[in-house]
Amino acid sequence: MSAPQHHLPDDWFVALASGTLAEAESLLAATHLTYCPTCRDRLALAEVAAARALEAAGPVDLDPGGLDALLARLDEPEPEPAVPQTADPVLPWPVLRITGPLASLRWSWLAPGVRGVDLPVPTTGLPMRLVQMRAGVQMNHRHAGTESGVVLAGGWTDEYGTYGRGDATFCDPELQPVHHQRIHDDADCIALVLNEQRALMDNPLFTPIARMLFKI
Ligand SMILES: [Zn+2]
Repeated sequence: MSAPQHHLPDDWFVALASGTLAEAESLLAATHLTYCPTCRDRLALAEVAAARALEAAGPVDLDPGGLDALLARLDEPEPEPAVPQTADPVLPWPVLRITGPLASLRWSWLAPGVRGVDLPVPTTGLPMRLVQMRAGVQMNHRHAGTESGVVLAGGWTDEYGTYGRGDATFCDPELQPVHHQRIHDDADCIALVLNEQRALMDNPLFTPIARMLFKI
C-alpha cells in the first residue's frame, strides 16, 4: 500500500497536540494517522512545540526525559506506511473500536449506490458516518458546509484530485462549492465522512424528497 497523498489540515496538528481538537475531527485525524507516516511526523513536531511552549510558560513539572524521548523519535528511521493492525481487513482501529467489525455493520440505504452507518460521535452538524459508495457511482453535489473524511477502501477522483485508501479529504464550501465525485470502477469505496450541513445533490436521482428521506 502506498502512503497517503492528501493530508490533515495544518491547524489540526496544533489542536491535536494541545488536545483541543473536537471529538469527530479527532476521530478523522486518528484514522488518517494510522495510514500516514508524514502526518505522524508532523504531529510529533507539533507535540515538541507544545511541550516547549509549556516549558516556556512557567513552572510546569515536565518529565525531563519526555522531550528528549520525543525528539529521539524524530530521528528514528521512517517506518513503512502502516497498514492498520486490526482484526478487520478494512477498518482501522480508531473506527473499529466504535463500530465493531465491518461484517457486523447494519447499513442504511441512503441513495442509489450509496449506504451508510451513523456513528455515535458528537458533532456540530450531521451525524458522522461510514459511507459505502458502489464502484462507478457518480456523486455530483454542492456543499453548504465543510465536508471532511478519510478513505478506508477504494477511492474516487474529483476536480480536486484522486483519493485512495488513507487519504484525508476536505472540502471548504467557500473554495470548493461544487464536488463531482466519481467512485473508481475497480472497487466499492468506504469512507469515514463528516458533513457540517447537507450536501445538495445534482444527480436527477437525488430528488428533494430523496434528500429529505436520506438526510444527505
Ligand atoms: Zn497525512
